[in-house]
Amino acid sequence: MATRRQFIRISAMGTGAVLAGAAGFRLLASELTDGQKATLAALTGRTPTYCEVCFWKCAGWVWKDEKGAIKKITGNAEDMNCNGRLCPRGTGGVGMYYDEDRLKTPLIRTEERGKQSFREATWDEAFDYIADKIRKLSAEWGPECMALFTHGSGGKYFTTLLKALGSPHVAAPSYAQCRGPREVAFQATFGQTLDSPEPLDIRDTRCLVLIGSHLGENMHNGQVQEMSDAIDKGATIITVDPRFSTAAGKSKYWLPIKPATDLALLLAWINVIISEELYDKPYVEKYTYGFEYLKEHVKTMTPEWAYGITTIDPTVIRETAREMANAAPAVIIHPGRHVTWYGDDTQRIRAVAILNALLGSWGRRGGFYRSESAVIPEPQHPAYPVPKRTWRTEFPDLYKLADVVLANGVCDATVPDPSRNCKFHGWIVNGSNLIETLPNRANTLRAIDSLELLVVIDTMPMEITGYADVVLPECTYLERYDEIRAVPHRKQQIALRMPAVEPAYNTKPAFWMARELAKRLGVIDYFPFEKIEDQLDWQLKQVGTSLEEMKKAGVKTFDRPADDLYFSPDEEVEFYTGTGKIELYSTLLADSEFDPMPKYTKHEEPPEGYYRLNYGRAPMHTFGRTSNNPNLTDLMDENTVWVNPRVAKEWGLSTGQYVHLVNQDGNRSEFPIKVRVTERIRWDSVFMVHGFGHDQKKLRRCYGKGASDSNLITKVLIDPIMGGTGMRGNFVTFITDLSKEEVAS
Ligand code: SF4
Repeated sequence: MATRRQFIRISAMGTGAVLAGAAGFRLLASELTDGQKATLAALTGRTPTYCEVCFWKCAGWVWKDEKGAIKKITGNAEDMNCNGRLCPRGTGGVGMYYDEDRLKTPLIRTEERGKQSFREATWDEAFDYIADKIRKLSAEWGPECMALFTHGSGGKYFTTLLKALGSPHVAAPSYAQCRGPREVAFQATFGQTLDSPEPLDIRDTRCLVLIGSHLGENMHNGQVQEMSDAIDKGATIITVDPRFSTAAGKSKYWLPIKPATDLALLLAWINVIISEELYDKPYVEKYTYGFEYLKEHVKTMTPEWAYGITTIDPTVIRETAREMANAAPAVIIHPGRHVTWYGDDTQRIRAVAILNALLGSWGRRGGFYRSESAVIPEPQHPAYPVPKRTWRTEFPDLYKLADVVLANGVCDATVPDPSRNCKFHGWIVNGSNLIETLPNRANTLRAIDSLELLVVIDTMPMEITGYADVVLPECTYLERYDEIRAVPHRKQQIALRMPAVEPAYNTKPAFWMARELAKRLGVIDYFPFEKIEDQLDWQLKQVGTSLEEMKKAGVKTFDRPADDLYFSPDEEVEFYTGTGKIELYSTLLADSEFDPMPKYTKHEEPPEGYYRLNYGRAPMHTFGRTSNNPNLTDLMDENTVWVNPRVAKEWGLSTGQYVHLVNQDGNRSEFPIKVRVTERIRWDSVFMVHGFGHDQKKLRRCYGKGASDSNLITKVLIDPIMGGTGMRGNFVTFITDLSKEEVAS
């Protein structure tokens, strides 16, 4: 077997760039050299896959040597998500397969929760235990007392299982802990959500505005490539970030905004665009509703007003607004992705949407295109039972515009409260380390403590597996089939994932697990195909291809039925809003008794001696999901806390020194974190990469490496509109007197 170093050399091929520094734009593997082509030619078979290391789902090929060992993963040249180039995390995905810390066999808990005492079990034992418990809980409390938390491809099959049982409670933290506010904001403005990948025409844009979006460190593959192309073609990049991010380094303007004031800047930009009549008049007149309300609303929100809030010079605010207008309609104010910051996030992203609408970028080349997505038919099965209650039963007036089950809502409703009837008694958690994903760990642990059944399905032993009653080891994406990937893009395109190798150890795919449980729980009719291959073949034949064809091609692209990627000049467009127009004034928000226009509200400042905790991504890791990956830990194995030199001087800190962080509620980082003194962060903030500081000892490579930001996020600012959990309202200070043991370890 190749060593880890060899894997990186073989599989990342562009690794020189990776090791060269943080320039995310150089991190994508480029065209193969002759030597690399020879390396590939020496490998034998290739099987199609789509990457599971992050949600971008790039399609690729898995290459094996003559002994059948996986050697390399490359991008599929036909794939619109990656254009044949994977990011370093994607090429390092092979580490998920070879990680010796993987979950290997089903486990059943033997002592109290959290003690990590398990015995190995057979699959039959594990399934019988789970099915027996679900039957008992459903009989006593109704099937609605079961909830599923899911992130990743296998979740589809557990979703079918839960719905077949009669529970509607399927929650994904990717909504209320990540992009939910922007979906509601764009729905309220344009009558549609953005989904993933977002329909951003970055390759043809002339001006890209990034607000707290660190594209490049956030390796959203296709977008990073398009941004690089746009820069080459002379596009202006404007980056708003308290941190000098990789994207800021590529920008004409870097606006180091005071954290928590972005909405004021957006409103000032709108003020300039309207007061200087820079907006797209025919577009606004034809397609929008509420312009006069908006004009009145922002008339006092001048750059001078915003200066006092944001610390951004009014001249720069005007200049950047004019840059956007000059480029319009080929301009994108990026909607962001992880947007749950301060609790007024839906309103902040509403301002982003409004700005795009004023500049006429929606439906225009270089702005937002009309995406298309293939529809994959589902096998026929009986109708799902109608649930008798949902989590909303107990929270009827909360988060009225949340259109999906909230992970934090289910968690809150699980914590025992004598004033409520609704209670969850069983959780199935698939590929989601809720201890780190949900803010307010103490609350999550209170909820878990009250459960009568906690089943965790994962490939790795994460913090949450330590609390499970039963652990089901899932095989990695390289060892299984999954659902057909059909994501929105410029054309309809589908991709196949199939096993490159047999599942290692005693691990199994989600489809098989969900079906085995369905058999025991009397709902097998919802899984009409015994083998997933047969189901996929049936589905593929419905859309004009087959499993055999897809095994060879990996992806298949369908032409657009009409040439309507952008609005045609005189096109009448009906938007799915209350007025049928793009709503600058939101009737949806007004009808739900929320502000129809975004308003700036002041947020809490850090107390003396504390700094706002900002967190984000590194290009070689995806949350905590990859922090034990042998290939990727070789590239980055711990996080650091970024500290401005002025703060470092006050505290006597130097680069490389270990400190503890403690937050405003007295929560201390479990492990020390290394300081990085840098001008690239404002003096009122610190920054750290999310996903480190694991306290799961079975993750031997990353246990205790760096600090966990999740452990320092105890204050949660809930968005009243859709229940998103704002997590940027936490402040930390330093503990510098570490014990000798801690420094040594
Ligand atoms: S962006 Fe990278 S990690 Fe994400 S799916 Fe693509 S290759 Fe995989």
